[in-house]
Amino acid sequence: MEKAGGGAAAATNTVVSAMDAFEKLEKVGEGTYGKVYRARERATGKIVALKKTRLHEDDEGVPPTTLREVSILRMLSRDPHVVRLLDVKQGQNKQGKTVLYLVFEYMDTDLKKFIRSFRQTGENIPVKNVQSLMYQLCKGVAFCHGHGVLHRDLKPHNLLMDRKTMMLKIADLGLARAFTLPIKKYTHEILTLWYRAPEVLLGATHYSTAVDVWSVGCIFAELATKQPLFPGDSELQQLLHIFRLLGTPNEEMWPGVSNLMNWHEYPQWKSQSLSSAVTNLEKDGLDLLSQMLQYDPSKRISAKKAMEHPYFDELEKECL
Ligand code: AMP
Repeated sequence: MEKAGGGAAAATNTVVSAMDAFEKLEKVGEGTYGKVYRARERATGKIVALKKTRLHEDDEGVPPTTLREVSILRMLSRDPHVVRLLDVKQGQNKQGKTVLYLVFEYMDTDLKKFIRSFRQTGENIPVKNVQSLMYQLCKGVAFCHGHGVLHRDLKPHNLLMDRKTMMLKIADLGLARAFTLPIKKYTHEILTLWYRAPEVLLGATHYSTAVDVWSVGCIFAELATKQPLFPGDSELQQLLHIFRLLGTPNEEMWPGVSNLMNWHEYPQWKSQSLSSAVTNLEKDGLDLLSQMLQYDPSKRISAKKAMEHPYFDELEKECL
């Protein structure tokens, strides 16, 4: 974290109104922290994504911790698989509260929409595309983890894509720490639990990079089947979905699990074969998936190791 701290103040330009510099074209989404607009930079004509971010209610300026987080975001966005943060502008809303405008490169779709488009046509996502998207995801996640940053909320919705080039970029990084962590989404839509690691659901107080790898595993399965792997609608239902497929965890497979804060006695299920739930994935794919969905976080494969898995052997990695 300290690495990126220096020069944080320089990362923010104060303007009377960020709207002077940009022409909002249309709202393209509502993220966890606020609205996202497609906008045109007046000076250059460049199309960007403008994300208006509210800060804590009681903050008068931009707190130094936020500036530090913004500069970490900027540093991470050097990776080709992390959405590029082009600029940060500070302004005030009508109530006089400080708002930050984060200016990102514009991406034309996200993985959620991409998967939905295949569901609608009934086609499968071509195996080569699944491989390429997964590799790029692992690479971006490995880069963040290599810099000591966890995403904590990886899901198809915040994996942006360029449909033509099939480039994938991770979005919404680091914001969970920089800005008020909401219980509900800005839109009052409930935060999704589908990609949440079991140790988080069970109330672990210390968690690691392994939480992101779990999410990557869930996304992998969803790319193969076009359906969410564990579509729980409450924390308990989420755990039960996981237990039904992978078996109810115990001390033998996951030492320390019964000491976690939210641990209870659960119905006992035996593990099912992953191939029963995840069709369309061949042997290597299933092996990689099973390593991503290990219960014990210390046994879960790392994003970096995942990139070396034989599942990716046939992929032309230089093109990415
Ligand atoms: P987020 O706040 O990152 O979860 O973004 C919410 C939605 O806004 C995403 O699902 C996208 O549809 C859209 N969005 C976010 N960032 C961008 C971007 N850089 N380019 C295009 N659309 C974006």
